[in-house]
Amino acid sequence: MEESTHTPPFHKILIVGAGPSGLLLALLLAQHNIPTIVLEAWPWLDTRLRATQYGVPATRIFRRAGLLPDFRAASIPKFPAICWRRVADGEKLIEIDMSVVEDEEDRMTVLQLGEMIQIMYKHCMDPARGKGLIDVRFNHWVTGTGQDGERKKAWVDVEIGRQDEEKRLERIEADYVVGCDGASSAVRQSLFGKDWPGQTWDCRFVVQNVYYDGFEKHGWDGGNYCIDNNHWGLIARRGHGGLWRVTYGDPAVGLTDEEYLARRPWHFKAMLPGHPEPDEYRIEQTNLYNIHNRCVDSFKVGRIFLAADAAHVCNPMGGYGCMTACLDVGGLADCFIGYHDGKAGAEILDTYAQVRRDIFLKYVDARSINNLDRVRKTDPWTVLETDKFFGIIQDLNKDKATLREFLMKVSSIEYDFTQHYDNASKGSGTDSVAFPERGGLEVGIDI
Ligand SMILES: Cc1cc2nc3c(=O)[nH]c(=O)nc-3n(C[C@H](O)[C@H](O)[C@H](O)COP(=O)(O)OP(=O)(O)OC[C@H]3O[C@@H](n4cnc5c(N)ncnc54)[C@H](O)[C@@H]3O)c2cc1C
Repeated sequence: MEESTHTPPFHKILIVGAGPSGLLLALLLAQHNIPTIVLEAWPWLDTRLRATQYGVPATRIFRRAGLLPDFRAASIPKFPAICWRRVADGEKLIEIDMSVVEDEEDRMTVLQLGEMIQIMYKHCMDPARGKGLIDVRFNHWVTGTGQDGERKKAWVDVEIGRQDEEKRLERIEADYVVGCDGASSAVRQSLFGKDWPGQTWDCRFVVQNVYYDGFEKHGWDGGNYCIDNNHWGLIARRGHGGLWRVTYGDPAVGLTDEEYLARRPWHFKAMLPGHPEPDEYRIEQTNLYNIHNRCVDSFKVGRIFLAADAAHVCNPMGGYGCMTACLDVGGLADCFIGYHDGKAGAEILDTYAQVRRDIFLKYVDARSINNLDRVRKTDPWTVLETDKFFGIIQDLNKDKATLREFLMKVSSIEYDFTQHYDNASKGSGTDSVAFPERGGLEVGIDI
């Protein structure tokens, strides 16, 4: 047998942030024997209420990373449908029957983000899966980055220690740094400053886990997008034992958190079936967010990369944020692996930066804005006739096989970087990369 003479061009990658994107990237790289250090600012994994549903493109990455069986075991067994309702009279306007894909391994994943990252972390620490190649360090708050092209190294400056301790300062070096440190990314700010292109929406998102028997009594199940100019959002069954997630946008601007929460009974009464009073439901946890659609000018500066929310953010209507985050790191992992194993030149790393940014700007940004506008700006009494996306769903609903094919299609937000393998290095790699036209809609959601 011929012995490989290939010497890997790099040895270690430093990932900032132990959120879904950071942990998933570490797992995918460990599968190919590439060691990582993951630095997390907090002493624990994030438990705030954020993502709960991840479309087929993300599920395909979860399967690749070996996470899917554990995600399915933790998830609710069935997610029958996604529908859009008019809040004024509770009328279901249109529905997508998700049962047509219930036997598909890669169907949408439903799981609270907090549970998902716990499973990811367990896999990282598991000697069989993480192979001892993933070094996750909590209480490591990254404050800045730097790089030296000649030495082919990049680094981060870190404050180490718990919040109540005196901090130790350290510089940690690796071949590459990847900022997976979320929307307020210190890595991004160290490269581009505080401001980044895009917009902040004029509303506050109020997100809560809710127990209320009225959902079942009134025949609600699955995901329910609520259309109204004042009371819009998503109400969905999310966990075992009757756990539901209620997310709504409050159009009031500039209130304190307490003032927003004081308005919650008004929103709940309008949106929940049966119009309940506060003593009829139980709220378990609440988080409030400002929501943005933004994208950084470049996902790569020399040896420092940005991925997921650190590189781009979008409003959560339609579940694009984490799904796109997973596609970013799935793609970046393929680029690092191809370069590491000698199947691609260094320019594949530039290809990552360009393609994933183009996809965000061309598809994700626009579609997530359409999804937001559909629930909060349209006329709920005419939207079924006027909305192009609803027209497409109406057509798809005529034939189960067509609907199934649509739900499982390769989406335009996916991109296979292994198509650039065996492409010997051809210079700087900053030329534009054409990406194939595939499935996907100019309006709507990738569910
Ligand atoms: C209300 C809401 C609902 C959502 N619903 C969905 C959904 O259903 N589906 C979907 O796909 N997406 C959804 N999203 C978006 C999704 O939650 C995010 O896109 C996703 O969490 C991004 O993952 P990330 O790893 O990039 O960043 P994060 O999840 O923010 O993780 C970043 C990590 O980096 C750490 N960190 C930050 N700064 C530093 C530092 N300086 N040094 C070291 N570590 C640091 C943080 O503590 C954190 O652990 C939703 C978002 C919100 C707000």
